[in-house]
Order: sequence, then structure tokens, then C-alpha cells
Amino acid sequence: MKHIKYPESIFCSECQSHVEMLRCRMMVRKNRGRTQVEFDYVCVDCGNRASAIRDWEYLQYSERDFCQSKGLVLAGTGLKLQP
Ligand SMILES: [Zn+2]
Repeated sequence: MKHIKYPESIFCSECQSHVEMLRCRMMVRKNRGRTQVEFDYVCVDCGNRASAIRDWEYLQYSERDFCQSKGLVLAGTGLKLQP
């Protein structure tokens, strides 16, 4: 049985329900030195699909875990992206 981990800080932009994370992308802003992650999600309630951007440093456990399951990891100051 596959357990869906809902993100702790991302909610549907339409109905504020829990969402299921589909994809994530790293977005590095060199100027300000902040790394952000963009999540594509689908609402489990209304089916709304959208995306949300969060700072990597402030990701909650389930969100970080999702990134790692997709091969997104930060190693030191460098960035490793595995397919
Ligand atoms: Zn919704």
C-alpha cells in the first residue's frame, strides 16, 4: 500500500485542501544565494493543478523527503541533480 505524504506547507490555491506533490524542480538564484524548489501539485479534493515555490531551507520534512525521492539533493554549497 502506497502511503501518500502530503506536503506540510503547501495547500491547494483554490480550496486550501491537502495536495499531492507530482514534481519538483530546483531553482537557484545566484544573486541572492537562495535555493528554491518549485513543486507541481494536484489537489486531492478538487483536482486543481498548480505549482508552488518554497525556499529549500524552509521545506518541511515531507517536502524534503519528496525532493530526495526524486533525486534532488543539496550537497554542501553545490547542487546535484540526478535523473
Ligand atoms: Zn483544491
